[in-house]
Amino acid sequence: MRNGLSGLAAALIVSASLVTAPAIGADPGPAEQPSGPVTHLSASSGSVVRGAAPADLTTGLPAELPAGAPVVVPAARVDNPAMLPPGDAPEQGLQVKTLLAARSISADFPQITSMIGVRPDAKPWHPRGLAIDVMIPNPGSAEGIALGDAILDYAMRNADRFGLQDVIWRGVYYTPAGPSGSGYGHFDHVHITTTGGGYAG
Ligand SMILES: [Zn+2]
Repeated sequence: MRNGLSGLAAALIVSASLVTAPAIGADPGPAEQPSGPVTHLSASSGSVVRGAAPADLTTGLPAELPAGAPVVVPAARVDNPAMLPPGDAPEQGLQVKTLLAARSISADFPQITSMIGVRPDAKPWHPRGLAIDVMIPNPGSAEGIALGDAILDYAMRNADRFGLQDVIWRGVYYTPAGPSGSGYGHFDHVHITTTGGGYAG
């Protein structure tokens, strides 16, 4: 009996350890989370990471963003503005790349409801249909700044498609290579200049 009890006790200990061990093994601790989306649209940093997309370009679904953040959908990825519906910009006199940028932004940013295209200006960009001003609703709010940042990022990511020449937003002048100057105003709209591409039709 003693041996039997010992054996049983040993068996119980073994089985207890067998029970315990998987229980420990079954709790790996905090799950490894995939790293979240890079918040390169931070209003505080104002930095732009080229090539990083705030949305999943594979699925077309927006990446996880803080509540209230503007949802950035993928670029329409068409090169012919005729394939997109007219947007928020008066289109008379816009050159084809500028028209593509205007229609793409209208399609991908429903928060935008107003753009200015051709207008008199001392500089040639607006009169020649090379530039648009994307008006930002509530531009001084956190949401407005984030939206402007998102449009800046969008323009930079689509620099080739849009024939992007420059973007100005919140004092900073950007070329497709990155920020290259400050003190340029533009706190209520994102100014986008393209290389034009000629007049449609
Ligand atoms: Zn402008």
